[in-house]
Amino acid sequence: MSLIVQKFGGSSVANAERVYNVASIITDTYKAGNQVVVVLSAQGDTTDDLIAKAKEINPSPSKREMDMLLSTGEQISVALMAMAIEKMGYPVISLNAWQVGVHTDSNYSAARIRKIDHERVQKELDKKNIVLITGFQGINRYDDVTTLGRGGSDTSAVALAAALHADLCEIYTDVDGVYTTDPRIVKNAAKLEEITFDEMLELASLGANVLHNRSVEMGKKYNVNICVRSSLTRAPGTIVKEVVNVEKMLVRGIAKDTDVARISICGIADTPGKAFRIFSLLAKKNINVDIILQSIGHDGMKDISFTTTEAHLDEALQILEANKDTIDYQSLNWTKDVAKVSIVGAGMVSNPGVAAKMFEALYEAQINIHMIGTSEIKVSVLIDAGCEDKAVRAIHDKFELA
Ligand code: ASP
Ligand code: MG
Repeated sequence: MSLIVQKFGGSSVANAERVYNVASIITDTYKAGNQVVVVLSAQGDTTDDLIAKAKEINPSPSKREMDMLLSTGEQISVALMAMAIEKMGYPVISLNAWQVGVHTDSNYSAARIRKIDHERVQKELDKKNIVLITGFQGINRYDDVTTLGRGGSDTSAVALAAALHADLCEIYTDVDGVYTTDPRIVKNAAKLEEITFDEMLELASLGANVLHNRSVEMGKKYNVNICVRSSLTRAPGTIVKEVVNVEKMLVRGIAKDTDVARISICGIADTPGKAFRIFSLLAKKNINVDIILQSIGHDGMKDISFTTTEAHLDEALQILEANKDTIDYQSLNWTKDVAKVSIVGAGMVSNPGVAAKMFEALYEAQINIHMIGTSEIKVSVLIDAGCEDKAVRAIHDKFELA
């Protein structure tokens, strides 16, 4: 007998027919002799609709009241699912996250799970119940309901799987797994059988929005194997885990990110402490910097360029302008017309030539590279906005990922 945690996303439970479809996946798992704990998201667009409702009343409501409101979507889902499973004749109970002791910090709307008391769930499992729990939420030390941030049900599921020492955590969604790249850009993108936590984190932060980032971090920390699969096809899906066969594939996937802006600070004195000054000013204001490029000094001067998100561009420019005298530079220039394309793979660290092959693909597609950033498992290039899909296709072909 295994303990399986299953999570179903909003589209998987969007209407009565989908609710029954999911109920049959749950009860099939139960019938096979497993203990089943289920985490549900709010149905379809419920969360968006609730946000719109709030804005009608008050354009800037407090985060506490927003959490009070948004947490209701998941409660509807678990209650309806319990009714479906009851009707099918199986023992079931729906519970709010607070009832099973999902304790979080008090950072309303972006709370983090601190600990989970698993006694209540265990008691229900011992009674042979299928246990349904509201995703995306918890309770803080004032007994207030908190939410974990958009997409947070994935994290609820992985956290419960870790706390209950589940054998597997299945995340059911409307895609049937993780692909080598976005299938909307590359028609023959291939579904991956396996991917490491680190690769998944890179792909997610690069814009392959399959799993909530924190759920992957949590999976890595507590070593919970996560299976991403479709509730509609029931095909095997992709397993996210610590170690996968890296020999088979040097590059696991390709991601693009169009939410990028570049700032160049030109004509800085080529003396120690300049980078420190610039990036500590930005860090103080929580401005995330991604690729950084510093030119070789010439005539006692150097230039420093970096990328950030479009939302941070104005604030970053303001900080740099306000500190023009203390940083001591000649000019600033910037653009939003850039995009980032990255290859990700745990196998590339021990294999020379991977970056060269990516650059060759870009050269053949006549795409100019403005900046390059690398890590152990990633190579990113900054290119002109508008070229990113062409770049993804060229690189995908070059590495024969299909
Ligand atoms: N219902 C929440 C949202 O739409 C949480 C989730 O779906 O994971 O963001
Ligand atoms: Mg999601």
